[in-house]
Amino acid sequence: MFSRHLLGWYQRSKRDLPWRKTGDPYKIWISEIMLQQTTVNAVIPYYKRWLEIFPDVKALARARLQTVLKTWQGLGYYERARNLCTAAKIFVNKYEGKIPAEYEKLEKIPGFGPYTTAAVLSLAFNKPHPVLDANVRRVMMRILGIHGEANGHHDQSILAELQTIISIKSSGSFNQALMELGALICKARNPLCLLCPVQPFCRAFKRGEQEIIPKPKKRAYRRVEAVVGIIEKDGRFLIQKRPATGLLAGLWEFPGGKVKRGETREKAVAREIREELGAEVAQATFLVKVNHSYTQFQVNLYAYA
Ligand code: SF4
Repeated sequence: MFSRHLLGWYQRSKRDLPWRKTGDPYKIWISEIMLQQTTVNAVIPYYKRWLEIFPDVKALARARLQTVLKTWQGLGYYERARNLCTAAKIFVNKYEGKIPAEYEKLEKIPGFGPYTTAAVLSLAFNKPHPVLDANVRRVMMRILGIHGEANGHHDQSILAELQTIISIKSSGSFNQALMELGALICKARNPLCLLCPVQPFCRAFKRGEQEIIPKPKKRAYRRVEAVVGIIEKDGRFLIQKRPATGLLAGLWEFPGGKVKRGETREKAVAREIREELGAEVAQATFLVKVNHSYTQFQVNLYAYA
């Protein structure tokens, strides 16, 4: 009953998205990785460009890592792009360029956590593995009337419930429908319960608790002050490669770093240049301030010539 209501609504209301027009496991895999941590509208142009440059697993496996990272540039969380490269090579070397349709094989590939494995298997191969992302978690906590923060604490019981209600014949559409419901109707704030196709099954709605399930999270948001040195000679600029592990690993940057407590920004530039390049700054002239927000913190970056 639940899945009939849900699937009927999905067929009528789903958004027309490029990755929904394909059954190609490679394209579905790429879209699923891009959609983690990134909004649908932001992903669309990246997805299209990616498929022009790397149309299939073999093309991705042949590509240089720097080309892949450059194509990924702007999507953030670069570990995802690195894993795509590694996984593509494994698919070519071990599985003749095909993405295997077995959970036990797929879950061993870098970048294939429980979500991605279930998503690719259900969407591309119609295997009945429920997916559990932030949207699905919120929807199911409301439907089941589970109180608390949406932090994964209740995932086992949500997954067990999903196993019993997932449509065996249309598991890919079922998973997409639940995620779509979370994106369009059962939103984090102001859910549109009067338009909801599964409202008769929703405990939170019956109890008037849809606004307090899940409990809103308190987010600790850090501010970071950083400086960079823009060193130019004859129209060429000095950039350096970040370490191979850690934040933004292997990417290119202007030399610089965080301003320490009690330090002026000019002193911080001089110290960072000394530490990173072994060079002394004769004069640092302020150029521009750039603000950039990440999930957990905001950087105020001051650039000096
Ligand atoms: S009735 Fe409201 S709270 Fe319940 S699933 Fe639908 S939109 Fe979400």
